[in-house]
Amino acid sequence: MQEKWVVGIDLGGTTVKIAFLTTDGSMIDNWEIPTDNANEGANITSDIAKSINEKLAEWNHKKEDVLGAGMGAPGPFDYETGIIYNTVNLSWPDNFPLKDNLERDLGLPVILDNDANCAALGEMWKGAGEGYKDLVCVTLGTGVGGGIIVDGKIVQGAKGAAGEIGHITSIVENGAPCNCGKTGCLETISSATGIVRIAKERLAENPKSGLQEILQNNGTISAKDVFDQAIAGDEIANEVVSFVAFHLGLVLANIANTLNPEKIVLGGGVSKAGDILLKPVNDYFRKYSFKAVAQSTVIDVATLGNTAGVIGAAWLANK
Ligand code: ZN
Repeated sequence: MQEKWVVGIDLGGTTVKIAFLTTDGSMIDNWEIPTDNANEGANITSDIAKSINEKLAEWNHKKEDVLGAGMGAPGPFDYETGIIYNTVNLSWPDNFPLKDNLERDLGLPVILDNDANCAALGEMWKGAGEGYKDLVCVTLGTGVGGGIIVDGKIVQGAKGAAGEIGHITSIVENGAPCNCGKTGCLETISSATGIVRIAKERLAENPKSGLQEILQNNGTISAKDVFDQAIAGDEIANEVVSFVAFHLGLVLANIANTLNPEKIVLGGGVSKAGDILLKPVNDYFRKYSFKAVAQSTVIDVATLGNTAGVIGAAWLANK
C-alpha cells in the first residue's frame, strides 16, 4: 500500500490551482491549469479530474490511495448539497451542482468550502496559524476576504456567509459603493483597489505628491506605489496609509473584541506592505481593543502566499 494523499483544489476565475499533499500536510506536487469558462463552464470539473488523473499516473500513485479532494471556490454555496448559488467570476449558471459534478468526474469524495475559508484553514494547518485553534484570517488583495476559525473549525453561519470580513461596514455615511451592493464596506478601503481609489481621490484634491508624478508617468498607480511613497515620506501617501490603517485596525479590534482569537493573520498582496502599514494597524488595533483582548490577540502576517488555498482545501479532505 502507498502513502495516503489528499488533493487540494483552489478554483479561481482564470486558473485552477491543484496540489497533492500527504496526510500530515507535506506538499508532494502543486500546479495549475487554466479555467475554461466556455460553454457555461461545462468543462471545468472534467478538466480538473483529467489533470489530477494525469498527475497521479506521472507519480505512479494509485487513486485508491487518495483519501479525497477538497475544493475552495468563490462562494456562497450550500454546505449540505454542494450547490454553488451564484458565480460572479465563473461562467456557471446559478445553482450549479459543483460537488456532485466534481465527484462524478473525479471518482473521489469532494468537500467544498469558500476560497477565503480554505486560505484560513491552510494558514492554520501549515502557515502562520500552525498550532492555533482560534484564528481569524483576513486576505487583503483585490478585495478583502475573511475566514474565522473557532476551536479548529470554520465558522460557516446560517447560510454559509459567516466571516465576510470585507463587508463589515466601516464607514456609515458617504462610504464608497462596494461590489456587494452596500456602501462603506472595509473592502472599499483596505483592499488594493480601495487604497488606489482613496489615493486618487486625495490627489484630485491635492496633487502635490510623488504619487501624482507616478500617475502622470504611468497613467495609473498601485497600492505598492502608495506604500513606497509613504516610506519615502510623501505626505499624501502617508495620509492614505493612515486612513487605511485606522479602518483596518478598528475593524480588526471589533472582530477581536467579539472572538478574542489567538491570532489574526493578514494575507494577500497588501499585507506585504510591511511595517509602514502593520505598525499603524497594530496601534489602532490596540487603541480600540478591550484590554484583555489587546493583551492576548496577536496580529501576524500569513506565510503561505498563494498556496494557502490549496493547502486548506486539502485539509478539508484529510478526514
Ligand atoms: Zn461589501
